[in-house]
Amino acid sequence: MISKSKALKGNSTKVYIKTFGCQMNKLDTELSIGSLAKKGYSFAEEEKDADVILLNTCSVREKAEHKVYSQLGSLRDQKEKNPKLILGVLGCMAQNEGDKIFKRMPHVNLVCGTRMFSRLPELLDEISAGNKRILAIDEDGEVNFDRLVTQRQNRYSAFVSIMRGCDNYCSYCIVPYVRGREFSRSVTEIVDEVKKLADDGCKEVTLLGQNVNSYGKGLSGKVTLATLLRELDPIDGIERIHFITSHPRDMTKEIIEAVGELPGVCEYLHMPAQSGSDRILKKMKRQYTSAHYRELVDMAKSIVPGIKIASDFIVGFPGETEEDFQETVSLLNDVRCQNSFIFKYSPRTGTAAIDLVDDVIEETKKSRNHIMLELQKKISSEENIKMHGKSVEVLVEGESKSNAGRLIGRTRQNQIVAFSPPEGVGQEGVTSALPGTLVNVEIVDSTDLTLFGDLRDFTLNELAH
Ligand code: SF4
Repeated sequence: MISKSKALKGNSTKVYIKTFGCQMNKLDTELSIGSLAKKGYSFAEEEKDADVILLNTCSVREKAEHKVYSQLGSLRDQKEKNPKLILGVLGCMAQNEGDKIFKRMPHVNLVCGTRMFSRLPELLDEISAGNKRILAIDEDGEVNFDRLVTQRQNRYSAFVSIMRGCDNYCSYCIVPYVRGREFSRSVTEIVDEVKKLADDGCKEVTLLGQNVNSYGKGLSGKVTLATLLRELDPIDGIERIHFITSHPRDMTKEIIEAVGELPGVCEYLHMPAQSGSDRILKKMKRQYTSAHYRELVDMAKSIVPGIKIASDFIVGFPGETEEDFQETVSLLNDVRCQNSFIFKYSPRTGTAAIDLVDDVIEETKKSRNHIMLELQKKISSEENIKMHGKSVEVLVEGESKSNAGRLIGRTRQNQIVAFSPPEGVGQEGVTSALPGTLVNVEIVDSTDLTLFGDLRDFTLNELAH
């Protein structure tokens, strides 16, 4: 990701940040851009024009780290031509690999872990002043939540971090080791940030946390995700509130009721199941059963009409038999997720599961992955066909890249909708005025991934926003 901002007087250093991985990393990049901009740094459009290149990295899979090492290798030439260039590795991989990065890539100047983002401007200043190499991976460092609301990629939609870290230690996951223990932000801080975002034109916020529905742990009084949603819902200007990612063990009736009652909170739950086999869930240390997962989905569907569920699944976990796999297939069939992220298990150094024998052969993993992808595709197509003839509220994002001449947006349930612009709105109107508008679209066609529709009850006056 690249972002631009105005340089303050006295600092013409141009920074380029490339982001790998999840939404949390994208938000960390935004927060870093905010804190650097406050100190007068400006931002380059392209790597080649930068004085500082920072890679904000992901560690979830070893493959992701290899990708960063290979990128760092290819930046060696640029560094040789311009020895003043500052190269930094930020985030999860920095935390996980530490000074191994300097050993493998001696041309790197900065390794800055997940809890050290707030010190980024001062660390860069130190390097510019002659300190050639800094390792900053203190696990007790303060988490940076301070943002400049104007420094964000999308004017209408923003991520807001409400908690960090994870205490769950699922056996396949590196996150607790690189992001640290769970830490919840105060309600006041979050409400203030969302109000500022609303004042700056933001209409949709997505509350982020590795384990978002355990929000409130460690805060005084009875603070939960449900109570937070009730504080945020009345904020003027915020039309939609989402939250990701929910752990089934920490999902409560109170949260589901808040989703059902609060008009701004969207009818969408991203709640990874990972497996339908209790034996495998136990080996994964997920702390729930597939029956409990089904009960939660049933409760959500009965309390919140029209709610859509998204899930994650891992196939080929150590010891997964054909019978275990069929239980996963059956769970997906019963729950009928709107979409799922389906992964083949790969061992990750540093996790508990590394000690289990990775005994499901690659061919079987591939075949199970394919079966799940095909099943999800079938379910999504069937569910989308049920939407034909219905009118849905769409928050317009902009022009469609894959459907020329069409606009795209998302429903409250996070479904992509493509539709033609209203008559009388020219190219300029489409690109500059419609994004950020809420419109009603009648669905007339669909694929497994996209709904297609026509605008309904729309007047050009609605563009005045
Ligand atoms: S809940 Fe489990 S999978 Fe999710 S971040 Fe925490 S340890 Fe990883």
